[in-house]
Amino acid sequence: MPLIVTGTVGIDDIHTPFAKAERVLGGSCTYFAAAASFFTQVRLVAVVGEDFDKDYQAVFGKFPNVDADGLEVRKGGKTFRWGGRYLENWNDRETIFTELGVVADRPPTPPEKYRDSRFVFLANSHPAIQKQLLESFPQRIFSVADTMNLWIDVARPDLVALLREIDGLILNDEEARMLTGKRNVISAGRQIIEEMGPMFVVIKKGEHGCVLVHDQGIAMLPAFPVEQVVDPTGAGDSFAGGMMGHLAAAHSKDNNVSMSSIQQALAHGTVIASFTIESFSLDRLATLTKEEVARRYTKFAEMVRV
Ligand code: AMP
Repeated sequence: MPLIVTGTVGIDDIHTPFAKAERVLGGSCTYFAAAASFFTQVRLVAVVGEDFDKDYQAVFGKFPNVDADGLEVRKGGKTFRWGGRYLENWNDRETIFTELGVVADRPPTPPEKYRDSRFVFLANSHPAIQKQLLESFPQRIFSVADTMNLWIDVARPDLVALLREIDGLILNDEEARMLTGKRNVISAGRQIIEEMGPMFVVIKKGEHGCVLVHDQGIAMLPAFPVEQVVDPTGAGDSFAGGMMGHLAAAHSKDNNVSMSSIQQALAHGTVIASFTIESFSLDRLATLTKEEVARRYTKFAEMVRV
């Protein structure tokens, strides 16, 4: 089933309690596509500026399942830039700066050949842009979006309009609270599926895993325990990429994405995310093999067995 992702491709400055990395390849779409590519082919739609160096573009070549033909390089434009700092507990981070650059002008135009995409993931970006892009894929059967505090804050009406059109939403616990006003993640999740449109919500709780609130029930999963975290950036997008990549591969012939297949896909997303955080940017994913993924998945399945 063709899987497509739209979102940001950008350049990040990251500060962790132990190290910093400047001008590294990042962006919501970047991590998603790399992670999903371990399970299926993934099409990427994003826009960067003329300042997007060839070396950054070359990184996509390390992921043969990523089709980056939808990466538009806009003349005269500036690439999306983001700077973040992790606090001592590693779970909380603050944004130092966000420079939208070309992302603020107008969305990228998806290539015509992507119109038949069936699984759609709207990685973090302005919700109005997410909605506009969603409408470019009329044959979609399963669409999921990610969002973040910035958009809940500055673009809530656009986000509410987007939620009416999608099957699933992924966000973290703090964002779920901001969106609904509910402190309890289950209550927040229920409010989203009962009042806002999606059939399911995945609420991420950082190193404590995630909760799935679905109209068929509730499920939860711990994170894979990583002792040597280098940089948590991209964990959420890789998690989503692993999940959607696994779903698109598992449903190559049927359209029936059940709650149990989402649960299984979440476990694969969890495993891929645990690799992302072992280095900065895509460094770890670029050397990762499918065998390593399978081994860690087996280990994870043993850990969570009840
Ligand atoms: P994650 O750690 O999974 O939440 O994703 C981190 C990535 O999201 C970074 O590489 C950033 O470039 C990108 N990012 C940060 N803020 C935004 C935003 N407002 N919209 C879209 N992408 C963002």
